[in-house]
Amino acid sequence: MAVQPANILVVDDELGIREGVRRVLTREGHRVVGANSGEAGWELLQSDDFDLVLIDVMMSDISGMELLQRLVELNPDIICIMITGYATISMAVQAIKEGAYDFIAKPFDANTLLLAVNQGLDRRRLAMEACRLADVEKEKDALEQRKTELEQLDRVKSAFTVTVAHELRAPVAAIQSYLRLILDGYIPADRQREYLIRAETRARAQLDLIGDLLDLARLRNPDLCIDRECVDIAQELRDVCELMAGQIQEKSLQFSVSIPESSVHVLANTRHIRQLWSNLISNAIKYTKAGSVTVVMEVQDSKVVTCITDTGIGIAKEDLDRIFEDFYRTKAAKAYTQMGTGLGLSLVKRIVETYGGEIDIQSTVGEGSQFTVTLPLHALSASTRRQEETQ
Ligand code: ADP
Repeated sequence: MAVQPANILVVDDELGIREGVRRVLTREGHRVVGANSGEAGWELLQSDDFDLVLIDVMMSDISGMELLQRLVELNPDIICIMITGYATISMAVQAIKEGAYDFIAKPFDANTLLLAVNQGLDRRRLAMEACRLADVEKEKDALEQRKTELEQLDRVKSAFTVTVAHELRAPVAAIQSYLRLILDGYIPADRQREYLIRAETRARAQLDLIGDLLDLARLRNPDLCIDRECVDIAQELRDVCELMAGQIQEKSLQFSVSIPESSVHVLANTRHIRQLWSNLISNAIKYTKAGSVTVVMEVQDSKVVTCITDTGIGIAKEDLDRIFEDFYRTKAAKAYTQMGTGLGLSLVKRIVETYGGEIDIQSTVGEGSQFTVTLPLHALSASTRRQEETQ
């Protein structure tokens, strides 16, 4: 088998030994570098990449043993062969204990040198091969892990598709049956309008659901660029509260709203901010039978914090982690009302995270819930506020 060329260093203060080793090993195709002292060898070891080092035990500056110790710490994979003029067993044992691969005694001939060096290089190759195999093994594990993750993702996607198909089918089936009843003459003329209104309501809910799905998909696509502008989120919140006032009255709830009069600017998409507020406030109203809904917005340093609190059905601890999942509705919510898709909070969380904010929930079953949204202020708005405060 052809010898693979290796990078070899010989550290010995005897020129004759350095030259002799160089001659023998260069003939074998290796690259051989010589160092005439321990320190010179140490410098080369730190700057070059060697496969094998021959070190003289007795040198005038640092001893071969010390160089060996430093080298083992620097690079334990380099093969070290000690050269000693005092070929005592104890010296050899000590060197091997310290991490040397072998030792040869002076004077030595070319065959002794070649035998030790070739064995050392074989050992190095085996060690490198073992390392490579370990890396391949690691890579295999990582690929298997990735495969499992992708399979899991595939399952989640399939489950999502089934849920979406189901959610999309149900209202269409209902609309179809209302229309069928009318077309087949089962509904008297004076009641047809009622059925058409029912069908229209389902169609509207269906459009809302499709809208939410499209928004979620867009927000989850990192390649899609979202149009951002300077939005006055205080004004948007006021507008949404006004729109919701009718529903609040219908349920005879108390509605308390505290929003800064001045503008509060956030860099975001206006439609997303409207969806954020209307989803949270409509949920508060929807899940509250009696009592109140409170909306408070406050500016704190460079953030704007908004709390939407209700005295509704509340959310059990074990559900808190899940309510941001797509289509997740708690049992209590399902029992309380059929209205809802379980997509509103998924959208809310996505919107908040897209604009660098956070959402937090405090809730007690039977007592109510508080959703707190924190969003970073637009840089300009934050600095204007700071200026106003210092004046
Ligand atoms: P839904 O369309 O069902 O309201 P959401 O995604 O908006 O879906 O909310 C997910 C679930 O979180 C709801 O089904 C309900 O169980 C719970 N939830 C959300 N807001 C409230 C609230 N204010 N009070 C009690 N439960 C809530």
